[in-house]
Parts: sequence; structure tokens; C-alpha cells
Amino acid sequence: MSTPLRVTVWNEYVHERTSDAVAKIYPQGIHSAVADAIRQHLGSGVSVRTATLDEPDHGLTEEVLAATDVLTWWGHAAHERVEDAVVERVQRRVWAGMGLVVLHSAHNSKIFRRLMGTSCMLRWREAGERERLWIVDPSHPIVAGLEDECFELEHTEMYGEFFDIPPPDEIVFISWFEGGEVFRSGCTFRRGKGKIFYFRPGHETFPIYHDANVRRVIANGVAWAAPTGCRYFGEGRNIPEPLSPIAGEHVVDESLHRAK
Ligand code: ZN
Repeated sequence: MSTPLRVTVWNEYVHERTSDAVAKIYPQGIHSAVADAIRQHLGSGVSVRTATLDEPDHGLTEEVLAATDVLTWWGHAAHERVEDAVVERVQRRVWAGMGLVVLHSAHNSKIFRRLMGTSCMLRWREAGERERLWIVDPSHPIVAGLEDECFELEHTEMYGEFFDIPPPDEIVFISWFEGGEVFRSGCTFRRGKGKIFYFRPGHETFPIYHDANVRRVIANGVAWAAPTGCRYFGEGRNIPEPLSPIAGEHVVDESLHRAK
């Protein structure tokens, strides 16, 4: 891991430019609010850049990704406008160890669906309901600094089960909503060497990314998803010379092996 941690905050940046209501909440874009939250909590331990859909390669060139330790992703209206080649590039970087923090409606992003291998769909209702996020893994670094056993968001878009994801490695938060639904709202996964944190809060018409607890959890998630530093990457390779002598006689039938 490099010092400071290199973070790229990605946002499709569509709603903020097409809706006055959203622009009022996020005048500099959702990416600015997320980047500020990360800087606020990780300070000099982090160097943060942002990238958006309309930039060449959506701002996610090979060079940018090679210099990114953790990528955060927010999208909603334009998932399908993200180029498959860029999605594949991000996926390869995750396999190679880049952390990924997936926010709110990015559950339906191409990159999250591809990494999960499922539809990642869920139930939703936009009624400004109260949400209570229960901490169900209190020793997890992602909840460090939260003072209570749960925290609340006054007005949210409801997300409910069933959330079509593979069983997470860890569930950090479970949300309860005023209308009665529940949701696995903080989940971790690993793919290759990369750590992935899905965190639910964040609908564009509510000031969720100005909430102190949400900002802390996002920053904690970024810190948690930092690469481990292990250089090994699981690329398959043939090992004709064993590390230790093998007892007995071993004949390799070369005709059975394709040339690599
Ligand atoms: Zn939403």
C-alpha cells in the first residue's frame, strides 16, 4: 500500500446537472461531498481525486486506475452508459487488489453486478421514510467511531429485501425502515485480492452524504478496503520444476499439455 492512500471517487454526475432539487443539495456534485467526507476523516493519510462519466474513459484510464488504491462508485441514471471496456478494466484492478466502495443505487451498476455475478436487484420505495441502521458487527473497522448501537436517517428512499447478492463475507449493518422492510445495508465481499464494501445510504434527493455518521462510515470503508500490499496475484502458471524433489518417477506426457 502506498502512503498516502490514493482514492478515486467516481460519480456519473447526471442528476446534479439536470435537477435543481439535487443541485441544491449537492451543488458541486455528489462526488465532491463523498471526497470531502473521505478527506475529513482520513486527512493527510489520503489523496483523493474525482472522476465522472463524461470524461474520456469516464475518467478511469489505465493510468488513473493504476494509481488508485480504493475506488468509490456512485451511479443511478446512467449505468448503461458506462463502457464495458472500462468496467472490465475496473474489474481487473479489483482482482489485482484495488478496493471498491459501492454506494446506494450503484447496486445496479455494471461493475457491481459483474463482480457479484447476480442481478443485485432489490425492492424500493421513494417515500422519505425514516431508516435505522443497526450495527450487527460492532468490532468491524467500518463502524469504528460510531457512538451508538444504531444510527438513524430521517428521510430516505427505502431499500428492502430480497437483495439479490451472493452471501456477503460480512454483514456490518442491517437497516429497518418505517414501512416495515429490512435490508442488508452494509456488506463486504472479496474478489481476487480486492476488498469490496457495499453501503446503502445515499439517494440523490436527500442530503445523505452530509450526514456525519454516513460520512464516517464511507471513510472507514475506504480505509478498510485499502490493498493489503501482498504482491502475489493468482495468475495460473505451469511449474515444471518442483520446489522440492518429488519421490518416485514422474513422466509428463507433453502431448497432454497445450503450449502456453
Ligand atoms: Zn436512490
